Amino acid sequence: MIEAVKFDRLYVEITNTCNLSCTFCTPHWRDNRVMSVEDFQRILNQLSPFGDHLYFHVKGEPTLHPELKTFLDLAHQAHKKVHLVTNGTLISKLTFDLGAHPALASLVISLHSLQPLPTSAQKTILGDLSRFLTVNRQRTLTIYLRLWNENNGVLIQWLSDYLGQPIHYTPSKKRQPLIDNLVLDTDQAFEWPDIEHPKVTDKGTCYGGLKMLAVLADGTLTPCCLDHNGHLALGNLLETPISELLTSPRYADFRNGLEHGQLIEDLCQRCTYHLKHKKRISQG
Ligand code: SF4
Ligand code: SF4
Repeated sequence: MIEAVKFDRLYVEITNTCNLSCTFCTPHWRDNRVMSVEDFQRILNQLSPFGDHLYFHVKGEPTLHPELKTFLDLAHQAHKKVHLVTNGTLISKLTFDLGAHPALASLVISLHSLQPLPTSAQKTILGDLSRFLTVNRQRTLTIYLRLWNENNGVLIQWLSDYLGQPIHYTPSKKRQPLIDNLVLDTDQAFEWPDIEHPKVTDKGTCYGGLKMLAVLADGTLTPCCLDHNGHLALGNLLETPISELLTSPRYADFRNGLEHGQLIEDLCQRCTYHLKHKKRISQG
């Protein structure tokens, strides 16, 4: 067993399916999969020494998973904290109280995912979300409302009405505390890295593989939470011990490259995401 380096974030894609098809969300090329409870437990056992914060997504909508509560229970038993990013459309349909689950450390609701929906559907979902947010005001769970788009008048109006005060969309001002445990997270949408995009640069660094790891719905381990087609795959956690994957030459070269400002993987050389966070990374 290698010494267990702790990663800040361990992404586990419990499903790669989604009930929406947002324009900014490049579709993946993999088969649709929903992780079984047995596979999740095996993956959790493998990841457990390497970090305490699980993020239940890469692609896909986690609240679609029929065993979401079981996964949260298993994470809680393993003393892990879970962070969820959801489009929010199914929260009211869940058969358990998501906001009260002891494993849940933060919840991000991607409001911008609602923008393409018909007005009537938006109204229904936003009504459900208002009730959910109101209940959550009595709790300690922090909810982040993510708005990564322009032309979001309906969503901003809903939020202003909910809070009883005008809210202004300022994409440069990230993480604007609203009330108690409710935060507005504004930014601009990013482009998913794609092997078919033109090369951008082979210089740079990134948190992928240094501070985070991701497991795709079939058990594939990759250093990058944006590697939605598994181009950086280190192997499969359902077949190979993680200690073997994290001592592989591919991972060692990848890590060493990032530590010296070199993007050695083809996908990374075509990625613009790391440029977006360049300043933050260089500041450590
Ligand atoms: S951004 Fe989220 S909600 Fe939209 S299609 Fe992708 S996974 Fe689904
Ligand atoms: S450079 Fe891009 S593709 Fe490579 S690890 Fe970072 S985010 Fe992922």
